[in-house]
Amino acid sequence: MQAQVKLGRIAGISVGLHYSWFIIALLITLSLAEHFRTVTPRWSSTVVWSAAIVTGVLFFVALLLHELAHSLLAKARGLRVRAITLFALGGVSQIESEASDAKSEFWIAIVGPLTSLAIGLVCLWIARLTGWLPGTEPSVPAIAVLLWLGYINMMLAAFNMIPGYPLDGGRVLRALIWWITRNADRSTQLASQVGQAVAFIFIFLGLYRFFLGANFGGLWLAFIGWFLLDASRSSYAQVAVMTGLRGRPVADMMERDCPTVEGHLTLRDFVDEYLLRTGRRCFIVVQNHNVSGLITSHEIKQVDRERWPLTSVQSVMRHLDQVRSVTPDTPAIQALEIMTREDINQLPVLSNGHLEGVFSRGHVLRFLQTHAEMQGR
Ligand SMILES: [Zn+2]
Repeated sequence: MQAQVKLGRIAGISVGLHYSWFIIALLITLSLAEHFRTVTPRWSSTVVWSAAIVTGVLFFVALLLHELAHSLLAKARGLRVRAITLFALGGVSQIESEASDAKSEFWIAIVGPLTSLAIGLVCLWIARLTGWLPGTEPSVPAIAVLLWLGYINMMLAAFNMIPGYPLDGGRVLRALIWWITRNADRSTQLASQVGQAVAFIFIFLGLYRFFLGANFGGLWLAFIGWFLLDASRSSYAQVAVMTGLRGRPVADMMERDCPTVEGHLTLRDFVDEYLLRTGRRCFIVVQNHNVSGLITSHEIKQVDRERWPLTSVQSVMRHLDQVRSVTPDTPAIQALEIMTREDINQLPVLSNGHLEGVFSRGHVLRFLQTHAEMQGR
């Protein structure tokens, strides 16, 4: 999930919003105004709306604190945290790598719900100190705001502790299985199966409620279930990829005999003779028997078709010293992280300035497939 609106950085972590967050912010403010109107009919509409907006903003701050708790603990445990993004269903912390031990995983996961629980309790406690008696309606707007924040944060803590991977509760479950079995892969598999079961229950209950009472809350529940199902499947796939690649260097999966083209070739000849005929997407450019750069369909697209017969490959190629490269010993996981961070599809593999091969996502997939077949899975 990429943030479309950047808000700034906290402790080196960039914080942003996804567009879907605005829809939910609007819905929350509207339903808060409705809620305050019913609990305190004597308030003027200015007070109702101000209270709704203030509560909405504080709710957003509470969500951010929940995510910050995950991220800061992950950083303290030596993991790299790229960003926090808030979206329609809450927040996500983009932690770049997985925890290396069960204990770290456990604390990084559980600190979020604990933070929400603490915020909820503090809100109710302040409300109590300022004269609210449990079981009574709030007498002043400030108490109404505190009560709503108190209950919603406690509900948030409870919802996140549902043991459906990748919800926080699912991560806690995974950490516990990991700790007991000492097998990280097995624990991911089990936790993601529980996650999918929970997701199906959500979808079923949501649809059941929707068809029984035409209730949109039911549809919302089903939607959360569907999101959870998708998330638990893809995070399992991601972990499986990481497991398959762990300890593997780039040299194990790079392409060694990359197709080469002469730099003086025109783009038209290159497209007709090489690009279309071979179906490959990346070529090494050689000049006087020396490797000088890379050319992909991306560079071709930058040039107007009419100019293809007049433009040489070497004039549009990416020079070898300009592109990001790795060595044959670079761990494959690290190479994938570089490609994701810099949004590129191929990495030349260099050893002492000499081109050894090309590494791409396609090679990783092919490697994982053959690897899985060899293991008879
Ligand atoms: Zn969380």
